Amino acid sequence: MTSPVWHPFTQHALQGDSPLVTRGEGSWLQLAPSGFRSEGAATAASPGASALSRAPGEGRLLDAISSWWVITHGHRHPKIVEAIKAQADALDQVIFAGFTHQPAEDVARELIRIVPSGGPAPLAHVFYSDSGSTAVEVALKMALGFWKNSGKPRTKIIALEHAYHGDTVGTMSAGARGVFNAPYDPLLFDVVRLPFPSHNACATLAALEAAAKDAAALIVEPLILGAGGMLTYDADILRKMKTLCARHGALFIADEVMTGFGRTGTLFACEQAGITPDILCLAKGLTGGSLPLAVTLCTAEIFQAHYPTDRRRTFFHSSSFTANPIACAAARANLAIWREEPVRDRIAALGARQEERLASFRADPRFARPRRLGTIAALDLDVPDPGYLAGLGPELTRFFHGHGILLRPLGNTIYVMPPYCVTAAELDLVYDAIRAAADRFA
Ligand SMILES: *Cc1c(COP(=O)(O)O)cnc(C)c1O
Repeated sequence: MTSPVWHPFTQHALQGDSPLVTRGEGSWLQLAPSGFRSEGAATAASPGASALSRAPGEGRLLDAISSWWVITHGHRHPKIVEAIKAQADALDQVIFAGFTHQPAEDVARELIRIVPSGGPAPLAHVFYSDSGSTAVEVALKMALGFWKNSGKPRTKIIALEHAYHGDTVGTMSAGARGVFNAPYDPLLFDVVRLPFPSHNACATLAALEAAAKDAAALIVEPLILGAGGMLTYDADILRKMKTLCARHGALFIADEVMTGFGRTGTLFACEQAGITPDILCLAKGLTGGSLPLAVTLCTAEIFQAHYPTDRRRTFFHSSSFTANPIACAAARANLAIWREEPVRDRIAALGARQEERLASFRADPRFARPRRLGTIAALDLDVPDPGYLAGLGPELTRFFHGHGILLRPLGNTIYVMPPYCVTAAELDLVYDAIRAAADRFA
């Protein structure tokens, strides 16, 4: 290992140096000539470099997972790049406690206009932070603060089996327990875990019914659990969970950090169930994936519980870069793209293309459970030892890199979540590589 950089979710003892990425454009990432990080003027040769330099696409990678689910319209959409440049010329950063700026005001108003809003309690307030994890932490704190300030101290959180909500201590607590958080387990708080509603939604709903009576909140990834393995469930179940929460007064938190901004075929996944959550978390696609920014939206009631003149009821959360103006300007440009460009048509077309490609795998015994929700497609490679630690995931990742494709399977679950600008021909490259992977590994 020649670099001091410690990468996320990376076992450095097993992986060589990381490819050096120099440019992004549309669905593509450009790698440095050797494909690897260069050391001063000379280029360090690394084991495995040859695999990349031999790759079709000549040192390019097709970004079939949208750079970890964030890039929506493609890399460096001109309107977003333009907005970032213009904002950097005007105001780079300002304290957000007691001050505001136009990009944050505009994004908040527009979000309130476009988020799911049926029902008696629309989302009315927008709290900014910097990542999906902080958006969820803020949601949990809002829920607890709501109950505390209302004089009814409910503290129980309910979450789904296989959930992923982030990597901070609070979000790990709400997420599934396993190898990823075992070392930190003593610090994690308990939550009530509902069985995943795959076959038996009755068990899920019964468990929710039993737990909701005195719960502060239920937190869910609507319609599809991302890091848990791209597991899907029906909109009808989502709607029933919301109804049950409402009946028992438990707040309903929708973590749309991954699903937001079109991934599931609608702007937000909650639309498909016709529900308005009490708290909504957004991040990844908020800036089109260009800069880190997150929001947590809540109802007027939750805001009001923090509104009294008693300073102890202030919402005590902040980060230094809350609502960074340049990130907000990028988000404003993203929202303009949704208004001005046929993004919904692109999503529909991408969903149809994904379905076509998946169809040829439905009869292939080497794959299990081909599934699709909106623009996201996933299928499980049938192998003897599919566990996350079995090493198949990294092996597959390397194999795909060798084919010029950026895919990063979750264990044996291969998923394709490309930017919406991906073409039919590019998608063919991805599925050709998946078929080749089955020839090699299954
Ligand atoms: C990615 C993700 C998060 C965490 O977001 P970060 O920006 O990585 O902190 C939270 N919830 C869901 C559903 C996610 O997919």
